[in-house]
Amino acid sequence: ESFFSSTPRIPKDAIFALTAQYKSDSSPIKVNLGQGTYQDDAGQPWILPAVAEARRRVQNRKLVHEYLPILGLPEFRHAACRMVIGQPAFDSVSSRIASSQALSGTGSLHLAASLIKTCSSLKPTIWIPEPTWSNHHLVFGSLGFKCRSFPYYDFERKSLDFDSYRTMLQSAEPKSIVVLHACAHNPTGCDPTKEQWREIGETMKQRQLFPLFDAAYLGFNSGNIDDDAYAIRLFVNELDMEAAVCVSFAKNMGLYGERVGCSFLVTRNADFAVNTESVLERLQRSVVSNPPAYGAKIAGTILNDDKLRNIWNDDMVTMCSRIKEMRQALYEQLLVNDAPGDWTHIIKQSGMFSFLGLPLEIVIKLRAPHLHGR
Ligand code: PLP
Repeated sequence: ESFFSSTPRIPKDAIFALTAQYKSDSSPIKVNLGQGTYQDDAGQPWILPAVAEARRRVQNRKLVHEYLPILGLPEFRHAACRMVIGQPAFDSVSSRIASSQALSGTGSLHLAASLIKTCSSLKPTIWIPEPTWSNHHLVFGSLGFKCRSFPYYDFERKSLDFDSYRTMLQSAEPKSIVVLHACAHNPTGCDPTKEQWREIGETMKQRQLFPLFDAAYLGFNSGNIDDDAYAIRLFVNELDMEAAVCVSFAKNMGLYGERVGCSFLVTRNADFAVNTESVLERLQRSVVSNPPAYGAKIAGTILNDDKLRNIWNDDMVTMCSRIKEMRQALYEQLLVNDAPGDWTHIIKQSGMFSFLGLPLEIVIKLRAPHLHGR
């Protein structure tokens, strides 16, 4: 008799299962269109020149493997918050920020949601766009939040369904939380316009809804952090709202496996920031004790050095431009090959993803004749 005899078998995570299928395929001309990781023309992971240089500097400084503080590497997390909020606003906002290094974007979302659950007067209801990154429901659901979806994408018109967005904002119970993809929405590549962001922010403020920004792709829309942080800065700096911001450096620094992230909360005053940061520290201690050091040292080195920041900016432009070119090439080939329908949505999208909007049966039908060795 086992203590675990009634344990159910959970299906594998869809994205990682697809990657495993991809790896086991023996075709020499395969491409992995599933996982959101940037690769170069040879289908290889790209180590950003800024990261390569920062790695050299970290090693030269005599890399040690001591524990970081519970809240993480201070120069990394402060620089990450400054990067998102931007100067000069950061000078006046910084004392109202509670922050912690976290395990990349996923860990940042988990930490922010744990904080909200532990010590806020917000309701345990969280509104999530549909479609969204597949892990949102799991992260928030595992913490006991009631996850509510609202249609984000109009599959007919292949664009943002702003009417439905507005309806959700008008009807959501005050003090509920709304998950906002800060930019480069995963998977649709379709973001609100600046005017729409303003309406979203103003309505949320007026209706007492709390913004939880998932900022996993800053730099991927425009190649520029300042432009891509537009919505966060609008809500925090201009509309003067409280907000949680969950930043990942997995994509924009290509540090996927190093798990470099930062979770921060902008509160109403400095006292609330000190208190909420103490809760962040307690929560972090109970789960990871202290976060991993190596990636944070690399990211911190880049963020705190003007020369490396410039190289990194160029790196983001490189990634963004290649993705744009790929999107354009796909669009042109669809036209050349007389694919029925309108494909302009592909070149209108931005960020890491190209959302074809094809039904599952068609995707499977397209893929089936090309599977090798399985
Ligand atoms: N948020 C979104 C929208 C994502 O697409 C991802 C990763 O694909 C993440 C968060 C988390 O990524 P990570 O935990 O690797 O930083």
